[in-house]
Amino acid sequence: METLRTIKKRIHQIKELVVQTAVLDHRDPDSIQLLAVSKGQTAEAIREAHAGGISQFGENYWQEAQGKMALLKDLDLHWHFIGAIQSNKAALLAQHFSWVQSLSTKKIAELLSRHRPEHLPPLNLCLQVNLDEESSKSGVKPQDLIPLAAYVTELPHLKLRGLMAIPQMRAGDDEALQYDSFLRLTKLLEDCNQSLGLTLDTLSMGMSDDFVPAIRAGSTMLRIGRAIFGERRVYT
Ligand SMILES: *Cc1c(COP(=O)(O)O)cnc(C)c1O
Repeated sequence: METLRTIKKRIHQIKELVVQTAVLDHRDPDSIQLLAVSKGQTAEAIREAHAGGISQFGENYWQEAQGKMALLKDLDLHWHFIGAIQSNKAALLAQHFSWVQSLSTKKIAELLSRHRPEHLPPLNLCLQVNLDEESSKSGVKPQDLIPLAAYVTELPHLKLRGLMAIPQMRAGDDEALQYDSFLRLTKLLEDCNQSLGLTLDTLSMGMSDDFVPAIRAGSTMLRIGRAIFGERRVYT
């Protein structure tokens, strides 16, 4: 319960740091959205974060998200899927989420488009880039990004918004190295826009331990879990 009470305070502190960092970097703080990553957290904790001013939430597992969506139907929340996508879950994701940020194959793109219900707006998408080409991580390799983006923009029920990445370097790393890593994603988005004549506007990068360098490198969407909710407890 202690955590529940502190969630609002933590959101307030993170927002202050976002504003400070943006201002120092001559960026408009309103161009940076805060997505609360709620995997491993309870519906009550999400309710508290919503009361603290957050309406976008990220989940990694369909089974877990489903239960919380049902409990929180009374709130106007926008759900982002940020986990690994199994093809047998693609239809459910297309039906229940506003965004999928972890797309990295043509096959899943096609399934998401085919199963997006007609009465809903197009599904917002980010392509997940495996920046450091780690075998343990999903995501499209940088050199395969442009053909995948070209394919996705042709599908009818999808709206490609930008790129997402989880760089290899984590907590304790030098901020300058983290910054360089994020800057590579920013450059990839520019390449993509230039090569394909697009105006993609979303750079989903920056987590609890590295969101400051992510903002400095151009992030427009921070995905923050533990710094808002504390350690993950349930489900996982
Ligand atoms: C879990 C997760 C996050 C949040 O991580 P924290 O370190 O808790 O902020 C962000 N993005 C993705 C893709 C995740 O899986």
